Amino acid sequence: MAAGKPDFIALDWNGTVVPFFGLGPYSGALETAASWREDGCLVFVVSRAGQGTVERDVQRTGLAHDGVFGCVDKGPVLKDLHARHGDGVFLGDHPSDFRAAAEAGIPFLQAGLEGQPLLEGADGCFRGWEEAALLVATLWGISEAPS
Ligand SMILES: [Mg+2]
Repeated sequence: MAAGKPDFIALDWNGTVVPFFGLGPYSGALETAASWREDGCLVFVVSRAGQGTVERDVQRTGLAHDGVFGCVDKGPVLKDLHARHGDGVFLGDHPSDFRAAAEAGIPFLQAGLEGQPLLEGADGCFRGWEEAALLVATLWGISEAPS
């Protein structure tokens, strides 16, 4: 891993970047992803849907990214990203996202943007995207853990 930052950040789509296909992104999501890319992190979208469906919705929002993966099972996709690009983190809202990150051997940050209860064992939960940026920085030792 490059010092002080993950090599890649993978994002679930529905419930993490947007509430659902066709809806506006959560506040701060696009800006945060753009700043990660400016810092040299690759940003990927990994969604349990058809490739075209996810690609069109990502394009609609204008999210800056390095790749979009529509899939049935996120675990193998994350595992492959980990093997190709190095250390990363997965941000998602669902228990299956947590399982996929665990399968790939990467940390998991839970999107609790709809007030979901914290998933036990997650590496953090963010209630807003500004908090997501802080949690990623904390995971990589860039900043102090939020109190
Ligand atoms: Mg989701």
